[in-house]
Amino acid sequence: MSLFEQQLREETPRSLKALREAENSCRRCNLYKFATQAVPGEGPAHAPLMLIGEQPGNDEDLEGHPFVGPAGRVLDKALQEAKIDRKQVFVTNAVKHFKHEMRGKRRLHKRPDPGEIEACRWWSKIERELVKPKLVVALGATAARSVFERVITINKVRGRVLPVPDGGNALVTIHPSYLLRLQEERDKEREYAQFLDDLEVARAFASRS
Ligand code: SF4
Repeated sequence: MSLFEQQLREETPRSLKALREAENSCRRCNLYKFATQAVPGEGPAHAPLMLIGEQPGNDEDLEGHPFVGPAGRVLDKALQEAKIDRKQVFVTNAVKHFKHEMRGKRRLHKRPDPGEIEACRWWSKIERELVKPKLVVALGATAARSVFERVITINKVRGRVLPVPDGGNALVTIHPSYLLRLQEERDKEREYAQFLDDLEVARAFASRS
């Protein structure tokens, strides 16, 4: 093992607590400069199911917890209807700091760029190695890109359990914020139903012994 590999090994967090601290002092990309804090993943240390979203939103950035804003409420409702107990799931984001732009006094969400996703994949990968979920659910394109290390077209792969390049399995579906952006009630109902179907596939896979 080279000196560099050895240093890397020594610096790699070995617990979720150490990971949270490391994420909060991370300077791997510029997003830490504009956010209140890093928002680490939360859930049981060895949850069978890990849900990965895009990045914290305004509420998550202020509160320091993932999926506590409007999209989180959609996710909670869907999890309940898919008979998945959120307390038994590890919930996190592909990018740990909130990226936004100011519009007057409002902080509007801005999608992370490929460099930021790649920089934060370092933490995401460690998180998956520590939790070792049976299944990762990538919510949306940013999470899917982080997990599969390439651009993923959601509609081509959604709802299927696929092997992940660095180990384990993942299923891709939409991000719940997508449902909030749809205008037509009919579209919302159709997409929500499909989202539930995807979550049910995930539950069935993760509950296999
Ligand atoms: S977004 Fe991720 S990589 Fe960038 S500073 Fe925050 S924790 Fe580090």
